[in-house]
Amino acid sequence: MQSAVLSNGKIVTADEFNSEIHGNSLYCYDKSCKAPVIFVKGSDHMAPHFKTTGKSEENKHHINCGFYRPLSFLESINKVKEYQEGMLKGGIKQNIVKINFNKLDPDYEPKTVEREEKEKKPIDPTEIKIKQENESTKSIGSLKAIVNLLTSYDPGILSSIVVQVKGTKIPISKLILHSDKAYPLHWSNELLETPYFVYGKVERVIRREKVYFIAFESYNNSKFSLVVFDKYFKHFSLRDEQLVGKEVISYGYLKKNAYNQDIKRSELSIKSDKFIQILNSKG
Ligand SMILES: [Zn+2]
Repeated sequence: MQSAVLSNGKIVTADEFNSEIHGNSLYCYDKSCKAPVIFVKGSDHMAPHFKTTGKSEENKHHINCGFYRPLSFLESINKVKEYQEGMLKGGIKQNIVKINFNKLDPDYEPKTVEREEKEKKPIDPTEIKIKQENESTKSIGSLKAIVNLLTSYDPGILSSIVVQVKGTKIPISKLILHSDKAYPLHWSNELLETPYFVYGKVERVIRREKVYFIAFESYNNSKFSLVVFDKYFKHFSLRDEQLVGKEVISYGYLKKNAYNQDIKRSELSIKSDKFIQILNSKG
């Protein structure tokens, strides 16, 4: 892990750690764990980091700790939500990314060809890498990329990800919401004017002549659906059995639908299959 907590509650990163200043009482960041950790100096092959010694039960990560084992997407997002605010306040180095789904949009027409610019830099283990075709800024260009990202790094490093949206920087954990969280925030006007990643389990698919609704399951009476309009049916080939009962994530602007005055609905309109990613059964 790249950061640890000192006995005074402050966070220290492996890059800045100095035992003369920080002492040697170091702990795991996870509140359910707090296992003692030690500092491991960097070498040519390995960046400096912290680790548990594993010598006894107290010196191992707790089974509920975010550093105990690799996490699934859903586990990972929950841990990042738990850690991110504190880690950013604690001063971990931010990884700034942009989200650009233009290429997935069937209506998008590229204006200019962006040139590939690659700089050679030494490898920094606290810096995330995102596989991308030809953009010089770190950018997330698909739902698959965000799922890969959240399952490729520990929640400590993921907590460093801040998304730049029109000049504002938003911690990534604020932009990824379960539908049961997104719905009440949406109707109490607490969401930002930006697209969101919304995930949840598909309860049913309703196919009408002019529109499809992909309704998500809810535990708190939220009414959240993905919506596909007829103009985009040709880009939408997912069958009901591929969706119903599956955990999925989608991306887009939420819109309020109060057409039926008794039922307030939140809808996220999508234009193609590429705006739904099915999460694996483990979530
Ligand atoms: Zn731990």
